[in-house]
Amino acid sequence: MSAKHSYKSAAKSDPLTGLAGREDAAARLGEWLGQGEKVHALLIGLRRFDALNLAYGTSAGDAVLGEVAQRLKHFAADELEGAWLTARSGGDEFLLLATEPCSRERWQLAAGQVLDLLAKPIPTAWGTMRLSPRGALLRGIEGDSAATVLDRLGQALHQAMGQAARRLVWADGEATRSGLSAAQLEGDLLQALDKGEIEVVYQPQFSCRDDRLTGAEALARWNHPTLGRIGAGALFAIAERADHVAQLSQHIARLALKGAKGWPMDLRLSLNVTPNDLASPDFAAGFARLVKQTKFEPWRLTLEVTEQVLLADVAHASQTLAELAKQGMRIALDDFGAGFCNFRYLKLLPLHYLKLDRSMIEGVAGDARDLAVLRAILAMAGALELKVIAEGVETEAQRALAASEGCEFYQGFLRAQPMGAAAFLELARG
Ligand code: C2E
Ligand code: CA
Ligand code: CA
Repeated sequence: MSAKHSYKSAAKSDPLTGLAGREDAAARLGEWLGQGEKVHALLIGLRRFDALNLAYGTSAGDAVLGEVAQRLKHFAADELEGAWLTARSGGDEFLLLATEPCSRERWQLAAGQVLDLLAKPIPTAWGTMRLSPRGALLRGIEGDSAATVLDRLGQALHQAMGQAARRLVWADGEATRSGLSAAQLEGDLLQALDKGEIEVVYQPQFSCRDDRLTGAEALARWNHPTLGRIGAGALFAIAERADHVAQLSQHIARLALKGAKGWPMDLRLSLNVTPNDLASPDFAAGFARLVKQTKFEPWRLTLEVTEQVLLADVAHASQTLAELAKQGMRIALDDFGAGFCNFRYLKLLPLHYLKLDRSMIEGVAGDARDLAVLRAILAMAGALELKVIAEGVETEAQRALAASEGCEFYQGFLRAQPMGAAAFLELARG
């Protein structure tokens, strides 16, 4: 899922994070409410931020705020449909606004995911930082003014910041829905596997040279009976809390491999592998067994790993991947350019593809410095004989740029959204 019309503010944006500023956000909120939109809002405060600033200095604090902004923006882009806006509304306060029509439960779930994401360790030059975020939620409706909504959120956040136990409060005074507690969702997840509520969708990948379909990336969705469709980010966060990542990964891999069995032979299947999967000592053997059982040709498989894999045990991860590569599977380094880009990893891992994060090509067409960085990365990929996939290609200009700069493949909403198995098969048989 993604926002097709995210609101990007040029003026008055916050120079440190590049997000909209408070006034900007208020103006946009006012506009939306005036148009009769239902606006879901989440105001986020960062507990412990002052202490971190004091202990490590403001440069460290700024780095952390920058990372918070990135995570927030990526969450919105990945999980929200319809228009949204991310803003830094105060020193250590952030605001997420969304016009997505969704239930109260759904917004609460999304907000919980945002807080989980921001609570994850933040690696910086000063060491790894941890935040303890709090949030206030509200649904603004026609007739509310932007000022009222922001005031109510501010007051509720103030209350949440003082509480150790509750991370989220509704600013309209209603209690957070206990029926949807984290524990309940975690319980639901195990059953979901058995009940067939987990679906694999496939996002087509194309060749830059001739626009030929080359394969697809499998992406997971949870069709929850009461909450509706839950995206991959939220799904994996729930699985992580419940310690069910391994089971979920295996379930998805099996579904995806089965689904891809009828594809024309020249199409590849890409599967995402979590750091959690790779850390398990018997992952290589178990995964190879699964591939064998489903009779999918290993040489048609690409495993996508992220740099996070490497934060844990590089030697083990690279050994596991090498074992799978020996059987013909290909390894892609995913989200390249989104994180730290530690180039050392490129030498340590047995890699075949580099998958450029969508932020790498987003604004490149109009920015000489971004273009220089992209070219340097492509030159390096070339030197290491890595094929490059451009991800998140949304415009023709981005596709043309990726092609002319030497990316071999691309994937993105410009050509195709993730789709169900049947729709993909239809496309493949063209
Ligand atoms: P990812 O591996 O980087 O997957 C690509 C994400 O970008 C997908 O989001 C996809 O829908 C989205 N996307 C594709 N094209 C565009 C575009 O043109 N514009 C924008 N804005 N977004 C685009 P999705 O499916 O929500 O997945 C989010 C993340 O969740 C994935 O990021 C991946 O890290 C994880 N994930 C998804 N499915 C699985 C899975 O089956 N297993 C594992 N381990 N992780 C998964
Ligand atoms: Ca991926
Ligand atoms: Ca990616």
